[in-house]
Amino acid sequence: MTIHRVSIVRYQAPGESVRQAVELAGGLPSLKPGARVFIKPNIVYWTRAVPFPKWGVITTSRVVEDMVVLLKDNGVGDITIGEGVVTADPKDTQTPAHAFATLGYATLAKRYGVKTLNVMEGRFAPVDIGGGVTLKYCADALESDLIVDLPVLKTHNQTVVSLGTKNLKGLIDIPSRKKCHRMDAEADLHAMVARLADHLPPVFTVIDGIYTAERGPAFDGKMHRSDLLIASADLLSADLVGARTLGHDPAAVPHLAHAARNHGRPTDLSDIEVVGEPIASVARFHAYDFDYAQDPDGNWLPVPLIKQGIRGLSYPKYDLTMCTYCSGINGVVLSAIRYAWKGEPFDDVEVLTGKVMKPTPGKKKTILLGKCMYQAHKDNPDINEMIPVKGCPPKPEQIVKALHQAGIAVDPAIFANRDQLPGLFMARYRDRPEFDERFFRIQE
Ligand code: SF4
Repeated sequence: MTIHRVSIVRYQAPGESVRQAVELAGGLPSLKPGARVFIKPNIVYWTRAVPFPKWGVITTSRVVEDMVVLLKDNGVGDITIGEGVVTADPKDTQTPAHAFATLGYATLAKRYGVKTLNVMEGRFAPVDIGGGVTLKYCADALESDLIVDLPVLKTHNQTVVSLGTKNLKGLIDIPSRKKCHRMDAEADLHAMVARLADHLPPVFTVIDGIYTAERGPAFDGKMHRSDLLIASADLLSADLVGARTLGHDPAAVPHLAHAARNHGRPTDLSDIEVVGEPIASVARFHAYDFDYAQDPDGNWLPVPLIKQGIRGLSYPKYDLTMCTYCSGINGVVLSAIRYAWKGEPFDDVEVLTGKVMKPTPGKKKTILLGKCMYQAHKDNPDINEMIPVKGCPPKPEQIVKALHQAGIAVDPAIFANRDQLPGLFMARYRDRPEFDERFFRIQE
């Protein structure tokens, strides 16, 4: 049996800690002269409008720079840092550029001669990942000799954890990402994510746990300063150890269970040697899920809306089929509804999202949020008054119109200024010096 080595190191100092994590894991694979290395950080979200919590959301620039230095010290001259940042407007290239500039990647380019790539503006190449599915991957990543995968140590409200394997979803184009959220149980999000790495060049993973997130992947989760680094030349092993460190049995993380099965590996870590800190000394449970429940009338709602007393509304929990754009706007819709609540029950409204939800017969009004829901139910006889939002991405103005038509007087300004919302979450971290923005800067 092959034993895979994973290191766990407490982050203590710039440069040294990443170097120690990599060395304990057995070092970087040897590369031929002229080798190309593609660094994949995690920039799951960005806005130009306001400062927002990046802790536990985005790979620290500290770890990115330390990896670049390590690669240079190992004689690697051709390094590209690339990420496919999703923006509300698919044509928006300014926001990813702002992310790269703010995170200091331009400074890294100047100082170390690395290249940077907004994956969405680059070339894509098709890869058959099996089961009749072809995804389009970033060609630069495919053509590299090594991918250095730098995910964040976080949980995820759909995939339980988001670590090295899930981070690779940022290398595929938008149509491919939508394909990952299919209805087919044999090829659902978990099964697709599990196969993302199968046809890539070798991957070396360093999971950045300087900051960790509960209920990620975005800024509305609960962040911790954890000061951990987990490294391995074996991606799946890094993720299995990462899941345990977040307090989750890898067997209960569907995409890791799929990946282990696909590769004939156990999920109990019996073929993994952990070096450095023992898992038991660093593990801390990180919740991954947002709680939903039924109100006294039997309507499904997020628990905070039930606690607020909202009635006359059914807003069932997002499922695995809700993808990128709808996920991005769903939290705004829920926030807008909370602000619109004036104490009077709404008019028996149901809001359906994703691709597989079914209308509850007898509801007075049914909002079909997004093109997929509209296509699925445009002729459904169980719907009394249908209020569709037909687009993909669903347009904020049309969502406002639909909610107004349903009698929910949301404030259009919440949607118009939705870029400002993430700024509200900064208050949680005020006066807490352990949450230090400098981890997301490169010193000039
Ligand atoms: S409408 Fe929503 S669920 Fe459907 S493909 Fe677009 S983003 Fe995904």
